[in-house]
Amino acid sequence: MGSFDLVNSNGNLFNPEEFRKQAYQVVDFIANYYTQIESYPVLSQVKPGDIRNQLPNTAPSQSEPLQAILKDITNVIIPGMTHWQSPNFFAFFPNNVSTAALLGEMLCTGFNCPGFSWQVSPAITELEMVVMDWLANMINLPKSFLFSGGSGTGGGIIQNTTSDAIIMTLHAARDRAIKKIGTENMLKLVVYGSDQTHSTFEKVSKAMGINPNNIRLIPTVMEKGRPFSMCPLKLRKEIENDVAKGLVPLYLCGSVGTTSTNAVDPLEQLADVATEYGMWFHVDAAYAGSACICPEFQHFFNGIERADSVSMNPHKWLLTGLGCCCLWVKRSDLIVKAMRVEPEYLKNEWSSTTESNPVVNFKDWQLGASRKFNSIRLWIVLRSHGVENLQNHIRSDVQMVADFEMFVKSDPRFEIVVPRLFALVCFRLINPNNNNSEDANELLNRKLLDFVNSSGKIYVSHTIVGGIYMLRFCVGTMFTEECHVIAAWKLIQEGATQLLKN
Ligand SMILES: *Cc1c(COP(=O)(O)O)cnc(C)c1O
Repeated sequence: MGSFDLVNSNGNLFNPEEFRKQAYQVVDFIANYYTQIESYPVLSQVKPGDIRNQLPNTAPSQSEPLQAILKDITNVIIPGMTHWQSPNFFAFFPNNVSTAALLGEMLCTGFNCPGFSWQVSPAITELEMVVMDWLANMINLPKSFLFSGGSGTGGGIIQNTTSDAIIMTLHAARDRAIKKIGTENMLKLVVYGSDQTHSTFEKVSKAMGINPNNIRLIPTVMEKGRPFSMCPLKLRKEIENDVAKGLVPLYLCGSVGTTSTNAVDPLEQLADVATEYGMWFHVDAAYAGSACICPEFQHFFNGIERADSVSMNPHKWLLTGLGCCCLWVKRSDLIVKAMRVEPEYLKNEWSSTTESNPVVNFKDWQLGASRKFNSIRLWIVLRSHGVENLQNHIRSDVQMVADFEMFVKSDPRFEIVVPRLFALVCFRLINPNNNNSEDANELLNRKLLDFVNSSGKIYVSHTIVGGIYMLRFCVGTMFTEECHVIAAWKLIQEGATQLLKN
């Protein structure tokens, strides 16, 4: 190591005794952080630049002790954090975590193998296959999406985010289509979602070379029964229009639990349209998919057996920590065909997936080569909690939100904008003097949102759908209890009282 001064490691990059000592300190640090989390403002109160201004412009030339680094985390970093694990975090959707996930993350990095093909760490690939089948069974996906389902091509992979899941499936669909219509006709391909489909769909479509004029977002409306869901009739009309113009329908993205209001698209009827026009049908259940581990929510997946692929994010609501979007497909062979390149340096006895050699090499199922051992984290989460406890966690969040919904309904100054399906309530304050002016109501609710969020006591977010500005209240952190929901509601009521007085 020459003259390098490797403080903390006695000249070695890894010293087991130092590692133990420092890891215990970091574990203590994290445990203390969680113990104190309620004392921090939920939404960080800093201004742009505040954090950078407190940190040096260059890296230290000499090693610094862990104590000094942890001190800066306490004094500089934590004030600049918005505390997503706070029990008073009710914004967006949760990105929750758990003891099991934290331990799984340590093991994942502890082994630190890049798992791109089966041979470079067989357990990484095979554990992922087992865990993906476990989770598929938990949310009651049909056998055709399972490795063990008998089709030979069904299975799932842990991607980083929904964008990656859409990239993979859109790529497979496009590859199949181009073989039929020729590369020269690529700009004729059309993709379909609704105006409530997550924005990543549009972003990915553009990045994948879909003609920006051929991204159709079917307008949704506030209808009874299925508010803000994709209408199969409107979809069919749009497609007929496109086909008449000589365009080629390629890909349909349906949603179970849209981001704004948790709308659920009619999968069965969308599948009819997709089948008729030979489109790839993907279902995005990023948030609500986790609820489907409870039998009482599984009906929202009715029709899923006719989808080509489905994705959901345990990193949102299933206590897993970020970087865990699960994608299942029926025809992994189409994904592999579209993705596989095989340079000499990656070749081995098991590297080409063929019928006679059905070994899975996940590098052919994702954009990157290297991949984290994320399945070990999900595996530990599923084993440490067990299915029943995970179901209880979902049900308890749903119960707390149901109570919140009741509070809103019992205060005549407020209204529920769309009926609740999972652990999200979309509501707003109404001033009768506004005479139904959307602009005035929007301004009122913007002020209410600002009142509660600037207090630092809770964090709630908003959306606009169908021209209606509304507040979103979602429960899902590992610490939220009934008392936090009650206190949040009291604060919202207090804001309403102040605003309506003026
Ligand atoms: C949150 C969300 C996404 C994107 O989430 P990632 O964490 O980036 O995977 C996609 N679709 C829906 C419906 C979502 O709610």
